[in-house]
Amino acid sequence: MSHQVVSPVDESVVATIEELDLAAADAAIEAAAAAQPAWAAVAPADRARLLRRAAEAIDAANEELARLEVRNAGHTITNARWEAGNVRDVLSYYAGAPERHFGRQIPVPGGVDITFLEPLGVVGIIVPWNFPMPIASWGFAPALAAGNAVVLKPAELTPLTAMRIAELCHEAGIPKDVFQVLPGKGSVVGWRFVTHEKVRKVCFTGSTEVGKKIMAGCAEQVKRVTLELGGKSANVVFADADLEEAAASAPGSVFDNAGQDCCARSRLLVEASVYERFLSLLEPAVKSFKVGDPAAESSQMGPLISDEQRRQVASYIGPEAPVAFQGSAPEGKGFWFPPTVLAPIGPGERACQEEIFGPVLSVIPFSDEAEAIAIANDTPYGLSGSIWTRDLGRAFRVARAIETGTLSVNSHSSVRYWTPFGGFKQSGLGRELGPDALEHFSELKNVFIRTGE
Ligand code: NAP
Ligand code: MG
Repeated sequence: MSHQVVSPVDESVVATIEELDLAAADAAIEAAAAAQPAWAAVAPADRARLLRRAAEAIDAANEELARLEVRNAGHTITNARWEAGNVRDVLSYYAGAPERHFGRQIPVPGGVDITFLEPLGVVGIIVPWNFPMPIASWGFAPALAAGNAVVLKPAELTPLTAMRIAELCHEAGIPKDVFQVLPGKGSVVGWRFVTHEKVRKVCFTGSTEVGKKIMAGCAEQVKRVTLELGGKSANVVFADADLEEAAASAPGSVFDNAGQDCCARSRLLVEASVYERFLSLLEPAVKSFKVGDPAAESSQMGPLISDEQRRQVASYIGPEAPVAFQGSAPEGKGFWFPPTVLAPIGPGERACQEEIFGPVLSVIPFSDEAEAIAIANDTPYGLSGSIWTRDLGRAFRVARAIETGTLSVNSHSSVRYWTPFGGFKQSGLGRELGPDALEHFSELKNVFIRTGE
């Protein structure tokens, strides 16, 4: 079955991809299972070297991969270069892991007790279209480092960079059957990762709706599962903050990648005493946010991924969610949507509760710290968030009180490969990245050896 990959920038066909059917997915999983023991047996230093070589190959192809993502996903060129660089960094970070992936010796009477961190076997990774390169690598790099084979399903809309990354990894010496990228439909190839007994873990990133199905499906086999799902993160601005800096950085925190970011700070909570002043600082920052040809070095935002996504995003704007002000976007071909600010709006409105996944920001005033925390926590999600204040005590208090996995103070950083990433509540299950990621791709085995008294 062939599928046309369409550019969201001009709606032209970028490539035609042969998609795997069920039989082909089964064959790929069987090949991965057959290849995995030899991969696990590769000496740790050699496995490390292969991962490092893959990182170097991806670094050398940075511009090629970035251009491909601009065409396929409409990401800005500056973002796409960062994304390809992130794959390099994640690979080289986890290249340090195979030689340090050790268990423990636990004191017990009558013998010696040792724990081993065994690979799981085959790991299935299901990737969404919003960050095709980084999200793929957060799964495949630590999974491979821990001695697993990987089958990876990119989103139907954005398979091209993952396919190229797999080729580069193979050229660097990672065996073909050990790391396979399998383009196809989620309902066919992705779901097969859930039902096939030889896939021992599924890493899923995408919508909460599909994530729930994946979790329920995995329960059938008590299959390991990591879920990175939606978000409705709050950017909380207190009156004592550097308001100029907070206002200047707020557009990027929600409109980056056209808002198609699970960490998007799509709710802006502003202390009521500075609400008017803050909006007057925010308006010019939003209006000057540069939306246009993503291949241009100066562009800060490109189009949405698809016409369907654009229709969905538009559905959030209405009488309960009035537009306070908007930036601009190109007209004509392409799935463009301007940066949009909704205010005033109540925290219970649909636009403040659901993940819009588009360039739409809802602004909500709050009266004090307790109310800010209550509003921030009043969604089913808990992925990310930001706090702007000069009061260190308050920064810690609020950071501890917000039910979310990744917070930043006076910054909007979310994803840093050195540190764990993942969600509270319906934003997900488990963590990715950081120093402990390999534990999520290993089974802990305990062995006791009797030595006699
Ligand atoms: P989605 O349906 O959850 O898709 C994510 C991935 O899962 C894609 O690779 C998809 O394959 C696959 N998939 C879909 N149904 C599956 C199934 N039954 N079994 C196994 N895999 C399956 O997300 P979407 O439809 O692309 O986007 C819808 C909304 O989800 C967005 O508007 C946004 O709100 C949210 N979303 C969140 C994130 C995030 O990072 N948190 C990422 C993407 C989307 P296909 O190639 O067939 O689509
Ligand atoms: Mg879907």
